[in-house]
Amino acid sequence: MSDGRDGATRVAAGPRLLLGSPIAAEIRAGLTRDFAAFTAQWGRAPVLAIVLVGADAPSAVYLRQILRTCQKVGVEGRLVEIGSHATADAVCDEIERLNADSAVAGIIVQMPLPSHIPLHTVIDSIDPAKDIDGIHPRNAGLLSLGYDGFLPATAQASVEILKRSGIEIAGKRVVVIGRSNVVGKPAALLLMREHGTVTVLHSRTRDLAHHCRDAEILVVAAGRPGLVTGDMLSPGVVVVDVGINVVDDGEGGEKLVGDVDFESAKNVVSAITPVPGGVGPLTNALLLSHLLRAATDQAERRESERVR
Ligand code: NAP
Repeated sequence: MSDGRDGATRVAAGPRLLLGSPIAAEIRAGLTRDFAAFTAQWGRAPVLAIVLVGADAPSAVYLRQILRTCQKVGVEGRLVEIGSHATADAVCDEIERLNADSAVAGIIVQMPLPSHIPLHTVIDSIDPAKDIDGIHPRNAGLLSLGYDGFLPATAQASVEILKRSGIEIAGKRVVVIGRSNVVGKPAALLLMREHGTVTVLHSRTRDLAHHCRDAEILVVAAGRPGLVTGDMLSPGVVVVDVGINVVDDGEGGEKLVGDVDFESAKNVVSAITPVPGGVGPLTNALLLSHLLRAATDQAERRESERVR
């Protein structure tokens, strides 16, 4: 039963479910129009290059999703596959080629990279103007200073789902579990930007439950299935579960779960993002909105250099 707010559903005798798909669909509808206008104005659709070094199963699922979303909104998704034994130099050379290719508006590098390739070397080689998932130090620095760079899409999605569901962040005690550069840390910075009073927890935090119970909003991005259980939560807390974990379904197959034990949490929280169906669907839509901005900036810059 819809409660009339975007992306929110209240199930009988349960918490409000904060759903990413309706919000993502709305963003994609706008993007489809905007990419069509871009293509009409500049003569070709922008390219999103996805660099995949080696291949593992979770990457394959994610890549299928993002390539499908590209197709839906009128973007050319280009998968750049590099063998798992490639050197760091070979990966950086490929990224340099994409940096120099004017058809390519955005570049994302699929993580994790093989262990012999230093992450920073690869991240540093991406042109910050094409770094649409905000992992380059320039964009990370802009975020920390409150300037307008490219935001890491998952972190942005975890905040956007709250805002678009009408949940007030300003003044609230917000607790974030996880401090990675791609999710926890940027989410904490964005929540501070929204005037939340933010506490960040991590693997060395003593008494996780104590801090969780203090939260009015809890964002969990630890990659540990079942880390947060209902007894660690205060009644009425709003929970954003960013975790995506593949676990045994007990019937010989596999299923996706978050970091929060939904069954024990559902009777305590006032609202929660389900996994799957919460933050995940929003991430790709936001990533493609960054691509539109990157493509437009680059096309306008080329045009102004041409007429100068
Ligand atoms: P990550 O790099 O492994 O970072 C995990 C963070 O959680 C670290 O800061 C770690 O602390 C902390 N942590 C781990 N175990 C903990 C524990 N027992 N107690 C408290 N903190 C703990 O993972 P990530 O890339 O940030 O991803 C986090 C989760 O989000 C994963 O499940 C991932 O699959 C998911 N994800 C979802 C999306 C989406 O679209 N929804 C996109 C990307 C990632 P330390 O810093 O002390 O090690």
